[in-house]
Amino acid sequence: MKLGIYGGTFDPVHLGHLILAETVREQLGLDEVWFVPAFQNPHKQGGPTTPPKARMEMLRFALAGNPFFRLEEMEIKRKGTSFTYETLQEIHQEKPDDELFLLIGADSLTDFPSWREPETILELAQVVAVNRGRDSAVVPEGLGAEKVTILSMPAIDVSATDIRRRCAERESIRYLTPRSVELFIEASQLYSSPETGTVTM
Ligand code: ATP
Repeated sequence: MKLGIYGGTFDPVHLGHLILAETVREQLGLDEVWFVPAFQNPHKQGGPTTPPKARMEMLRFALAGNPFFRLEEMEIKRKGTSFTYETLQEIHQEKPDDELFLLIGADSLTDFPSWREPETILELAQVVAVNRGRDSAVVPEGLGAEKVTILSMPAIDVSATDIRRRCAERESIRYLTPRSVELFIEASQLYSSPETGTVTM
């Protein structure tokens, strides 16, 4: 099976994430894409993080109805800092015959060499970096080009940071994320203060 692994904070999940995953699934003919929310993203230490339960709930809403997409909770269960190489090792142990593809935004490719154990990641998975619109990713020096695939998706200028800011300032987030996620955010007042959500679950 060709299995896509897509990690992120997903605070909240939005259309940029979903379109990225669908683009890669279609272009590479992946059988499944697993969305893996981080317990603690190593690149975002210190920032306010919405409780995992709420981030997972929003992912559940967003992924519902797409038979190729699945929510994978292993980083939340593992707790601590969520290192991608550990996640790939765990998935490889569970599914040794599967071909793994690690989905990342092309912007993340630049920092890739500074991730924990990049060689292990490249041994276990093909890295798929996705350009937004006309941007073009540069494969950092020393990173075996044969282990990196670069694809493009339409530029979707949405970020989780912008969604949180809009909520705090009572601006509309309609169409930036699926309606079900929007309604969840509204009902739970998740991002009503700029610092953190009011939901503690
Ligand atoms: P934040 O604004 O809180 O930093 P984010 O919107 O960038 O969050 P993450 O969960 O940190 O979302 O992102 C996970 C992955 O999704 C990263 O590889 C990032 O490059 C990619 N990504 C995020 N937003 C988009 C987008 N609009 N289009 C394409 N890729 C995106």
